[in-house]
Amino acid sequence: MLTAGTTSVSRRLLGRLRDVMAGGGSAQERLDKVVTLIAADMVAEVCSCYVMRAGEVLELFSTEGLRHDAVHQTRLRVGEGLVGDIAAHARPLALADAQAHPNFAYRPETGEEIFHSLMGVPIIRGSRVVGVLVVQNRTMRHYTDEEIETLETVAMVLAELVASGELVDRAELVPVDGNALLPLRLEGVRLNGGVGIGVAVLHNPRIVIRRLVAEDPDVELERLKTALAGIKTALEELFSRPEMRDGEHRDVLETYRMFTEDKGWINRISEAIRTGLTAEAAVQKVHDDTRARMNQITDPYLRERMHDFEDLANRLLQYLSSGNEDSPRGELPENSILIGRNMGPMELFDYDPKRLRGLVLEEGSATAHVAIVARALDIPVVGRVKDVLDKIEPLDPVICDGDNGQVFIRPPDDIRESFIEAVGQRELRMAVYARLRDLPAVTREGVRIGIHMNAGLLLDLQHLHESGSDGIGLYRTELPFMARSSLPDVAAQTLLYRKILDQAEGKPVVFRTLDVGGDKVLPYWNPYEEDNPALGWRSIRITLDRPAVMRHQLRALLRAAAGRELAVMFPMIAEVAELVQARRILDIEIEHERQSGTPLPTTIKVGTMLEVPALALQLDALLPLVDFVSIGTNDLMQFLFAVDRGNPRIAERYDPLAPTMIRFMRYVGAKCREHDVPLSVCGEMAGRPLEAMALIGVGIRHLSVSSPSIGPVKTMVRSLEISSLESYMETLMDSPDHSLRSKLKSFAIDRGVVL
Ligand code: PEP
Ligand code: MG
Repeated sequence: MLTAGTTSVSRRLLGRLRDVMAGGGSAQERLDKVVTLIAADMVAEVCSCYVMRAGEVLELFSTEGLRHDAVHQTRLRVGEGLVGDIAAHARPLALADAQAHPNFAYRPETGEEIFHSLMGVPIIRGSRVVGVLVVQNRTMRHYTDEEIETLETVAMVLAELVASGELVDRAELVPVDGNALLPLRLEGVRLNGGVGIGVAVLHNPRIVIRRLVAEDPDVELERLKTALAGIKTALEELFSRPEMRDGEHRDVLETYRMFTEDKGWINRISEAIRTGLTAEAAVQKVHDDTRARMNQITDPYLRERMHDFEDLANRLLQYLSSGNEDSPRGELPENSILIGRNMGPMELFDYDPKRLRGLVLEEGSATAHVAIVARALDIPVVGRVKDVLDKIEPLDPVICDGDNGQVFIRPPDDIRESFIEAVGQRELRMAVYARLRDLPAVTREGVRIGIHMNAGLLLDLQHLHESGSDGIGLYRTELPFMARSSLPDVAAQTLLYRKILDQAEGKPVVFRTLDVGGDKVLPYWNPYEEDNPALGWRSIRITLDRPAVMRHQLRALLRAAAGRELAVMFPMIAEVAELVQARRILDIEIEHERQSGTPLPTTIKVGTMLEVPALALQLDALLPLVDFVSIGTNDLMQFLFAVDRGNPRIAERYDPLAPTMIRFMRYVGAKCREHDVPLSVCGEMAGRPLEAMALIGVGIRHLSVSSPSIGPVKTMVRSLEISSLESYMETLMDSPDHSLRSKLKSFAIDRGVVL
């Protein structure tokens, strides 16, 4: 926050700068006047402005206090000297004894040896450093935070002068890092699957703020108020659209709406207006501050929420400077791949989804609100692609490979063609799978295999009928919890679960109770710092310790399923006693509902996940107490082999087709048959055709897989002869191999099993 003193200093300075900028003369003359003004106002003996030239070189463009013949002569590479350091890290430096700094680079032509202290800030435009502004003093002066802030505000004004193209040609401001025109393959993480081929559209074309310094703060405060009101009206309009009627993306935008009323944020903008900035410059300043702070925030939830503020800031800027964008949004190409640093949830709706083929972000996580919205719109997303904005120019050809978390920029023809072919093949395969929709998943000798779907969002339900799956074998209830800003109450949960059952149209749905913790963090619950979160306070352990949460969820499920069948599954059960405890809570809830006269489900089935190996040694005690079991291979693998599923260095070290895993499956399958308890497998393993084949080969008859896997798994099943597979797999059970993969693959090829 600025102090009153700083406010008046920078306001006076800004007023003078405005006069200079509005006055006549060449850009160089105006720049010379600006540095003189800054030096005088900040009581500095030197003020110099360095401008970025082609080749990442900073050239001294103007100075008050250094030798004038050094102007346009002194040049520093980015990273060289203190000026180069400021540019390289895009952050301010304030040093009482600059010459003692290891990066100090002496330039004799400037005559700067007599100046001891130095304060410099980057001149930033968009996400690029376009220059450096420096003040120096003879004494060992300690510059204050307020002085740095003032210099940063002034640098904003200069950024516009530099970017105007009057000092250096605009083309020079585009970095040419040698690689810029070469094809590039960049790695990121998959935030939503699918492949998009198109051209780059840079999200948030920089808005040119033409007016930075205001005459009358009251007028600017009024403009801010009007702009905020405009955004709220636009949000209301968005809420009234049919596609916004329900689903998690609505929750996300509800949260976003709250930000438009955030007093702290609005106050910070108002404060900046009072220092003399126009409303748009003030929004830009708070936006830049937010970005700077964001880099220091490690908490993923907070970082994501900061993006919501960024989104708002961008929207405000558009309102305040309408018509001043570098490239208007209206000209969105047919096959657009949006490239951005990050996005707020509302921003995606600014683009016509029919023209969007993909989204590439420098940041982002699977729980980012924009990822949830993109999933709703079926747009492939690759996140955490480092520095992509620096490596791409508008309209560059791009391939956004969401499936593999990679992006190709200016891909060579062969790569491009192979992707076009892959997309074509995928469409063909999809057409084949669509034709399979109404055919049963039976093996060649007529054994019926249940193929269910894993789901977690309301919008997944559309795939239930399209894919022809038998029902939902795993509904992960935690995802809606994660998309909200607070724990949903019984009424909200009832509504959601009822919609799920309605949309399932009588197909069975297995609701898994809240499975958070580990890698699934609820934003509003303070997770404890744990050394091993995967082995920590998570899943059923949390809900047994917080029975009110469990009770509310079970109550909502009972109400939602009134008059129809309810199937509830408890996750991460490690011992029979935990299941007994969870069941008891359910029984209490059933009794509570019965006594209060609330209609109940016609039948209530209770099952457990088998993810913790210890449970497999308690099956004789467990199975009489449950109606069904589902093996969660994602967690089971991690516990069976002591291998963190989220750690890319080791996650792939052990193969789910290891003989141990397959023997484990065979054992559990046999026990369940002995007790006549239905068994399914619902981890990712079940969704891969070869793995699914192996599971069937050891007696598993029900699989629950993600919707894109239904077609491939059904195709495999329909080409399989189970009896020969079973007898072949019997011979492999004692194998000492790391994996049975190659043997099973050969079997499939020999027997014509389609993988
Ligand atoms: C599993 O662990 O296999 C599972 C299905 O649960 P989740 O992936 O949600 O932990
Ligand atoms: Mg699990």
